[in-house]
Amino acid sequence: MIRALYPGTFDPMHNGHIDIAQRAAAIFDEVIIGVYDAPPKKLLFNTDERVELVSTALAHLTNCSIVAFTGLTVECARAVGARVIVRGLRNVADFEFESQIGLANRQMAPDVELCCLLSSTEYIYLSSTIVKEVAGLDGEISQWVHPSIAQAMRRRLAENGTVSSADTLSGKKNVTKTRGKLTHHG
Ligand code: ADP
Repeated sequence: MIRALYPGTFDPMHNGHIDIAQRAAAIFDEVIIGVYDAPPKKLLFNTDERVELVSTALAHLTNCSIVAFTGLTVECARAVGARVIVRGLRNVADFEFESQIGLANRQMAPDVELCCLLSSTEYIYLSSTIVKEVAGLDGEISQWVHPSIAQAMRRRLAENGTVSSADTLSGKKNVTKTRGKLTHHG
């Protein structure tokens, strides 16, 4: 019986993440999705919300379960009895990052193996940042995320008012905040 841990921030989980989780679930007997608690990033959803959204998006995977974790990923892997850490690779930047962290993890925990799955071509450009940026500019995101996540994002962005212009992909100064909504002036 091989159990794998697929760790990430998942803020929010998108279809690229779901694709990796599904493919991991087809390889390993059990896959635990590790939702990282309090990463050093600005988050749209808190840990409980991200766990809830992941569990809705992956409800169809019977050999998948979800845990929140903090601290070292290898410690989480050991704690849940996972022999393998699964990560997704979109590009060379992901490879450089994952190989560095993966080698450090191997030093700390030689008993835990790393398994990187290449992104499917249709999701290679997709990131949580892009989904948040487009949603924050009132763009359509239903093609990228589970319907319950699209709904939760719309609700959260309405509550928050907007994303900050400093964080936008466009990086343009002509992004202004009007009555709590982002208005992008072409
Ligand atoms: P982290 O902060 O740990 O990178 P993310 O939620 O951004 O958390 O990503 C979790 C994992 O999913 C990482 O291994 C990342 O490379 C992978 N991933 C992210 N987007 C995609 C995608 N479009 N296709 C495949 N894997 C992806």
